[in-house]
Amino acid sequence: MKLIFLGPPGAGKGTQAKILTERYNIPQLSTGDMLRAAVAAGTEVGKRAKSIMDAGGLVSDAIVNQIVSERIDEPDCAKGFILDGYPRTVGQAEVLQDILKEKHTKLDAVIELVVDQNALIDRMKKRVEETIANGGKVRSDDNPEAFAKRLVEYTEKTAPLSKFYSTTGLLRKVDGMTPVKDVTKAIELALK
Ligand code: AMP
Repeated sequence: MKLIFLGPPGAGKGTQAKILTERYNIPQLSTGDMLRAAVAAGTEVGKRAKSIMDAGGLVSDAIVNQIVSERIDEPDCAKGFILDGYPRTVGQAEVLQDILKEKHTKLDAVIELVVDQNALIDRMKKRVEETIANGGKVRSDDNPEAFAKRLVEYTEKTAPLSKFYSTTGLLRKVDGMTPVKDVTKAIELALK
């Protein structure tokens, strides 16, 4: 099963992707997590990405395309994977098509979590509160300024992917405003 999760920041892509990885026994490939790991490790990619990520902007297509292309060659992706946070631009989606063609494989579905944008800031604040309560480290882009920029980037650069994938017949829109369990059920139904 090869899936993409689409949706604005705070839509629940990470949460749902995590649940599905257990159900289907395939890895969640979060470009955000991979970039944060590169920043933490102080790699060249991490150094180039850090300030862009902190400000809520998008890292260059070339960087993320390469990260994903290399990651899906790893053995744990042989049975499938869930892309969470990639592609984020039409350019990335086009490159992904080429990458998958080269590897003689293709996507099974694109799940778009449809949410009310007004609820997203509150979800981000809740995530920050929960992270603090659990003694975790708050993401450097989970603050009102960077979050607002992430929403603008989503609307301008990522939202057009919904149309891009609807023309391929792969798009499944799911209501992301219901409780987590119900969203999971709706996704499973959409994948049948
Ligand atoms: P996320 O964890 O998916 O919210 O991503 C956090 C940040 O990582 C984003 O705001 C971007 O700066 C960067 N990022 C993650 N995925 C991508 C991508 N596919 N293209 C460009 N930048 C990305």
